[in-house]
Order: sequence, then C-alpha cells, then structure tokens
Amino acid sequence: MSMVYFDNAATTPVDPRVYAAMEPYLSGIYGNPSSLHGIGRQARTALDKARAHLASLLNASSKEIIFTASGTEADNLALIGYAKTLHSGEHHFIASAIEHPAVLATLRHLESCGIATTLLPVTPEGLVDPNKLRAAIRPGQTRLVSVMAANNVLGTIQPISELARISHEYHALFHTDAVQAVGKIPFDLSSGDIDMLSLSAHKMYGPKGVGALYIREGITLRPYIFGGGQEQGIRSATENVAGIVGLGEAAKIASEQMADDAAYIVSLRDKLIENVQSRIKNAYLIGHRYRRLPGHVSLGFSGQEGEAIKLLLALDEAGFAVSTGSACSASHAAEPSYILKALGYDAFRARGALRITLGRFNTEDEISRFCDVLTDTVSGLRSITSLKV
Ligand code: PLP
Repeated sequence: MSMVYFDNAATTPVDPRVYAAMEPYLSGIYGNPSSLHGIGRQARTALDKARAHLASLLNASSKEIIFTASGTEADNLALIGYAKTLHSGEHHFIASAIEHPAVLATLRHLESCGIATTLLPVTPEGLVDPNKLRAAIRPGQTRLVSVMAANNVLGTIQPISELARISHEYHALFHTDAVQAVGKIPFDLSSGDIDMLSLSAHKMYGPKGVGALYIREGITLRPYIFGGGQEQGIRSATENVAGIVGLGEAAKIASEQMADDAAYIVSLRDKLIENVQSRIKNAYLIGHRYRRLPGHVSLGFSGQEGEAIKLLLALDEAGFAVSTGSACSASHAAEPSYILKALGYDAFRARGALRITLGRFNTEDEISRFCDVLTDTVSGLRSITSLKV
C-alpha cells in the first residue's frame, strides 16, 4: 500500500504543473538572467513572469517582491535588513512567543547587537491578544512588530490586520511570517496594513530552497548579502531561475484554485476532527477551532502526551506520514514544544501533539483509513500504557 502524506506543513509535494513549468529552465533555457544575449533574456523574462504571478496572488506590485533562497532567509532579511537601517539609539522589536525559529533566532541575534526585544504571550488557543501588543509597545522605541500569519504547529490564524494597525499607530513597521499561510488563505497587501511578508515555495506545492520577501514600496532595507546587485541590490546572487519559475507557477495555481482547494481541504479536515472526537475519547484539539488553516489539525491525547513519538512511528509503520507538534527538527523530537508551553501546557502535555496537515492531493478515502488506524493505534498505546501503570 502506498504511503499517505499528511505532513503538508513540513513541505508539500511539488505540483506536477509546477514541475512541468520548471523543467525547461533546468535543461534548455539555462541562461543567466543578467546576461544580455537571447538565452539570458529568456531567463529574465521567466523571472519577470514569476514575479508578476506572485505579486498578483498577494495583490502587490512586482517591484515589491524580492526573491530569496528560503522562507528562513526572507525572515532574516526583513528583520536584519530593517535593523541595519536604524541609527544609534534605543530600538525595540516585538514578536510573538510562538514564531518560527527563523524569526526567534534572528531576534536573539539582533539582541546581541543591542536591539531590545519582547515576545508576546498567546492565549490558550494560540492567539496574540491585540491588547497585549498595545501594552508591550514602547512609544518612540518600538520599530518593528513581527507576528506570523499562521502558526506552523497549530495552524492558528492571527489577527494580523488588527495587529498591524496598532503597530502603525506607534510608527512601528509590521512584518508577518506568512510561510504557512500564503496560497492557503487570501492576502490583499494593497490595503497597506502589512509592511513586509515572508513566504516559501515549498509550503505551497513549489520547490524547496526558494522564498520571497514582500517589501511595501517606500520601505528601505539594507542588504546583508553583497555582490552583483541582483534583486534591487537587496539580495545579490544569480537567481535560482528554475526555482523561482516554480514559485511563480505555484502562485498562479494558488490564485486560480485557492478557494476550491480550501473548501475541499476544510471538508477533509472537519471529517477528520469529527471522527477523532467521536471515536477517540481522550483526544483534544489544540489551537483555535475555527481560526485555523484549512488543512491543519493538531491533536493531543490526554494521559498519552509523552507517547506522541511512539504514535508517530506506529502510524509511519502503517503507512501514514504525520508529525509531532513538539519540534521543528527531528533531533529535538522528544523535548517539550515551546509552542505548546506558550499555550500554557505543562512540560508533560507539551510533549504530546500529533500534527496532521492536509493538502490538495489528499483524498476522503485516505482520511477514512487514517481514522481507523489512528483509533486502533491510540487504543493500542493505551493498553500498553495501562499495563505499565
Ligand atoms: N516560517 C514558518 C512559519 C515555517 O513553517 C517555516 C518552515 O517550516 C519557515 C518559516 C522556514 O521556511 P523555509 O523552510 O523555506 O526556510
């Protein structure tokens, strides 16, 4: 039996249409987009087209898009690139406590360069409370607020427009890490709320190793990669043409079918949640019930939180690829999750999430089979657990 892939938040399969769009740029059309001859110009045209597709998905302008080598790099560029524009004085950045390490580790680096930082707590459902942001702002010192559009473990969607408006009241820029959200929920950046937004191709059926940072027109960043001046001098390096073409195609597909994808994936997700809640008595949903990404389900099993990894391995054995919510990397898989701890979970409960993330290629039949196997596996673990007690 073939493997069922329910780990779309870790990475998505490459859509065959994306692969087909990329292929010519890995073979015949190998020109450097900075070259002036025909094959170089073909590559340049492909970059322009990809940029236009991505801009259109975000309702932004092409000149507001800077391609990077990952979502991580886009986050680093937003925070470090902006910090580098600040003159001496007291500077303060704010982020949520449940940001991805691409933001949290960058903030720690900036702290070592003298920027004060505050991490905002979240509610037990994983939401940033706008009043907590208002209270944390230091007028005249807070320069940047960064809150993710949707969390990678919980799928919880933050009230980013409201948070952005509060930031602007105090003349702070607003950045959002939208790596998990772009292509899944709509963005209209023409409203002016969001100043910078990070995204990544491999979370939206594109290839790995390509991302982008949207930078609203009028905002200046200083580069930290220097060279030939590509990407408006903000991010030098010969562009990853095939990868960027893939990102552009993924964005075009998302523009065309996001609403249909979302409706379909939500129906699968809700079937999964309802099945789990009716069949597995000790299961609980983690994160906000409704403010969540279409395909995201994070589950805990009370009393069995310490066994999430056993559960994951048993499911893997049965042919289902899922994730534990406890880590961003497999090497930390047994440690409590800082995200679950931020929800108020104690160290034991914080080890115990199972993250099931669905995508456009999953089917109803896969959900039915998964629910049967999950029910059996959880009760199997329960009998082992009770034997031990
Ligand atoms: N931000 C969030 C919320 C993510 O989920 C991820 C990937 O897991 C990243 C940033 C990093 O993106 P990339 O893998 O492209 O570096």
